[in-house]
Amino acid sequence: MVARVIPVDPFDLVVVGATGDLAQRKIFPALCRRLADGQMPPQARIIGAARSDMDASAFRAMVASALTADHLDPPIPAPDRNAFLDQLDYVAVDARSQAGWNDLAARLRPDVTRAFYFSVAPSLFGALAERVSAHDLATPETRIVVEKPLGHDLETARALNTTLARHFSEAQIYRIDHYLGKETVQNLMAVRFANILFEPLWNARFVDHVQITVAETMGVGGRAAYYDQTGAMRDMVQNHLMQLLCLIAMEPPHIFEPDAVRDEKLKVIRALDPVAPGDVVRGQYRAGPAGQSYADEVENPDSGTESYVALKVGISNWRWKGTPFYLRTGKRLAARSSEIAVTFHDPPHSIFGEAAEWRENVLVIRLQPNEGMTLRVMIKEPGPGGMRLKDVALDMSFAKALGDDMHIPDAYERLIMDVIRGNQTLFMRGDEVEAAWAWTDPVIAGWTAQGTAPLPYPAGSDGPEAAARLLQRDGRQWREIR
Ligand code: NAP
Repeated sequence: MVARVIPVDPFDLVVVGATGDLAQRKIFPALCRRLADGQMPPQARIIGAARSDMDASAFRAMVASALTADHLDPPIPAPDRNAFLDQLDYVAVDARSQAGWNDLAARLRPDVTRAFYFSVAPSLFGALAERVSAHDLATPETRIVVEKPLGHDLETARALNTTLARHFSEAQIYRIDHYLGKETVQNLMAVRFANILFEPLWNARFVDHVQITVAETMGVGGRAAYYDQTGAMRDMVQNHLMQLLCLIAMEPPHIFEPDAVRDEKLKVIRALDPVAPGDVVRGQYRAGPAGQSYADEVENPDSGTESYVALKVGISNWRWKGTPFYLRTGKRLAARSSEIAVTFHDPPHSIFGEAAEWRENVLVIRLQPNEGMTLRVMIKEPGPGGMRLKDVALDMSFAKALGDDMHIPDAYERLIMDVIRGNQTLFMRGDEVEAAWAWTDPVIAGWTAQGTAPLPYPAGSDGPEAAARLLQRDGRQWREIR
């Protein structure tokens, strides 16, 4: 199956931080694929910007090597790469000085959509916003894109929102959470709100519990300094897992438009119960067959930062009161796997008596690897000899369902095109980010007050033992990480 492509209008996109990791690894390959698919028009221009002094041809050479990097699957064909490089320009600017800004202003076209991707450390967001407005580079339709971390806590998130709001309206600010750009995550909304099948069952009466897992095999690696100041709760739960939880738990918006969707997500965050200290497990990996220990990777060997966190979360509203949401995320776990599993209650009465070995119906939405969905249902075991039941998986891999040659776009491909189109549905609003911090801060304050250290778990395992007990005490168990 070939994806339907709706081309966007010509645009100027300034990527500030163009020489950095995010730009080289994600943003430019994503844009190149959009050009190759015919979505990005040949009249679009990408202007790289950073302090490094180089000319446009040196910058093109830098991006050319990023477009042939091994992680790009499938590789980008040479003609597509060359066509993309032709659309690149570069200007040296410094967010903290006047240098380069007049030069940048001279390159921007007045009559096309304009966007600035702030692909720099968040400490520069304010200075950049300042420069863009001081040099009159922003029209009322100009968009800016920023990405996590959007604050370190509620106070800093508010300060960041205030700084951005001084120069841009909320409608101009695109806060990326790349999880929202994943096809499966959007499919979650399609499955819930485009089918009659699930929605009547989507509540505490029928759903026993929900598990949201984001497991990584990598350690902190090159992000050690940043990560050790941040930890799994701030780095993953406050944003990515929170967004997944919102999409699972929210009420149907009355229309699929940005504020209607974001209003419903915000209501979920506001309905989250405070998390009791006994409902949180923090962990930190120790050396194991899968790698060295956290303490060896960060500067402070006595670090008390968690590389793993598991929580039991309640939602106080009519739909979900009584259904626990169990969230867990961590580094150096057994497999790289992200999924949401919705486990339904058993039927109220078995007409099959002893012959049935009950397994709950579970709807699993896989984000990675192999994006797709599985629904576990009970069926009759084939053959004569009575009514024996067994559970089987109705398995839908999107790659298979849509054709093996279908390229599932990277989240950034989708999200950057949404910025150009002016569609904020998959971007976080400022009040959402603040509400998520307002819920997160007391969880962190709770364990800080207790002064407990994260529990050890071997690199390559499923996490600390105590996380397993968090569910066992409720008569449940985590799904295996694989
Ligand atoms: P990075 O590799 O350190 O790149 C930073 C970029 O900013 C470089 O291009 C740097 O180039 C430029 N820069 C630094 N100071 C500047 C200044 N005063 N004026 C103009 N440009 C300046 O960082 P990154 O990993 O790409 O991350 C960028 C942002 O995305 C950060 O907010 C990060 O938290 C976020 N993010 C990154 C990832 C990822 O996978 N990398 C994932 C999620 C979020 P010069 O030195 O040439 O100026």
